[in-house]
Amino acid sequence: MWLPVYEPATGKVYGDVADGGADDVAAAIAAAQAAFPAWSALPASERARWLEKLAAALEAKLEDFALAEARDGGKPITLALKVEIPRAVSNLRFFSHAATQFASEFHHGEAGMHYTLRKPLGVVGTVSPWNLPLYLFTWKIAPALAAGNTVVAKPSEVTPASATMLAQLASEIGFPPGVFNLVNGLGPKVGEAIVTAPEVKAISFTGSTAVGKRIHQLASPALKKVSLELGGKNPTLVFADSDWRDNLDTLVRSAFQNSGQICLCGSRILIERSIYDDVRDALVDAASRLPIGDPLDAETRMGPLVSKPHFDKVMAAIQRARDEGGRVITGGEALQHDGWYITPTIIEGLGPDCASNREEIFGPVVTLQAFDNESEALALANASDYGLSASVWTRDFTRAHRVAASLNVGMVWINSWLVRDLRTPFGGVGQSGYGREGGMDALRFYTEARNIGFPA
Ligand code: NAD
Repeated sequence: MWLPVYEPATGKVYGDVADGGADDVAAAIAAAQAAFPAWSALPASERARWLEKLAAALEAKLEDFALAEARDGGKPITLALKVEIPRAVSNLRFFSHAATQFASEFHHGEAGMHYTLRKPLGVVGTVSPWNLPLYLFTWKIAPALAAGNTVVAKPSEVTPASATMLAQLASEIGFPPGVFNLVNGLGPKVGEAIVTAPEVKAISFTGSTAVGKRIHQLASPALKKVSLELGGKNPTLVFADSDWRDNLDTLVRSAFQNSGQICLCGSRILIERSIYDDVRDALVDAASRLPIGDPLDAETRMGPLVSKPHFDKVMAAIQRARDEGGRVITGGEALQHDGWYITPTIIEGLGPDCASNREEIFGPVVTLQAFDNESEALALANASDYGLSASVWTRDFTRAHRVAASLNVGMVWINSWLVRDLRTPFGGVGQSGYGREGGMDALRFYTEARNIGFPA
């Protein structure tokens, strides 16, 4: 059985993908279980070598993978070529190195000597979304494999191309069979079969808050380890003393990159009142000039939304903003074009309690709100059940760090956005989920600590 795969730029079916089921998941788990003893027994440097080999093979085919993501996700090819596929390579390479740096802790003191072994869990499951298909897929499988686990991974059925190509590449380079398994298909069938299988010891999920809650419930009877990277409603705080004019391009990217379909996009822009009109006008001008169009054109900065249901959801959110009394000051329209394009949309006139400022839209839609002072800025920023990330724009570094410490989120950027050091903890709080990915946090998640103590 097959599922259609659509090309968002045309709205037409351009391929199909396996409509997997519980049997496929069971076969993948059996293969992963069989492969686990040998893979986990390999020296870490050998596992590192395999990850490096996969990274190099992917790097050599960067253009093919970028093209695949531009076609089935509608992602601008330049973004895929310059940022996202290179980042997938970095994920594999980073955890290849990390595998050899994952040391056992040792404590020596009044209570004797203790060392802590970090044992791989066995078979682990990963479930990832459509917005950054290979970037998030590799962000999960790389640390799992580095730590000595075998993996059953499910990419999104909306954008299955690049992850499926990676699995084929792994097979071509002779990756040990059964170590890295991919099952395509729908969430309720394939995803739930992975989450509920007793043999799967941990689940790493990135996706919507609604599905994250379902996975939390499904995994809890077995007390499985779960990491949930969910939605966001991230604030961008622009103070009057910031160099906002010089950083306008980054501010616009933080709102509209990948058509706003990045969990880290700033969707609530909070602006100090004395500069509100100037910033608003500059944002409107820049947004309305963003090259929007064919994702395969190297000049395109914004492509279509990923699917018809998602397009409908975002258009409904724009209508809801109008109904709530918001003024759409630019965008808000579907492009008269094949495919699922929405123009970059900026809305003002809505307060912190309306649905438009509370619920994730996950499209090229931002709201603007004015604040008079730092405490009001913080109150607006923290008026959210989500808590993934924020960015703070000011030249006053004392204030920048004070504000960063008071924001109820997992990650803050000062005078920048989406600058990632792969060693740092990545994740959110509240409705944005729990658990942290990245660096040693990821390796700890994919292992069980065993402490051994003895008298000094
Ligand atoms: P989604 O939750 O609909 O789907 C994510 C994945 O879960 C897909 O592979 C899907 O097939 C699978 N799935 C669906 N139902 C399932 C079920 N019942 N059991 C198991 N798996 C199931 O999310 P999406 O629409 O693909 O992605 C967009 C969402 O992802 C947004 O909310 C966005 O904020 C979030 N996101 C979060 C982060 C982060 O790091 N916090 C990063 C990227 C995206």
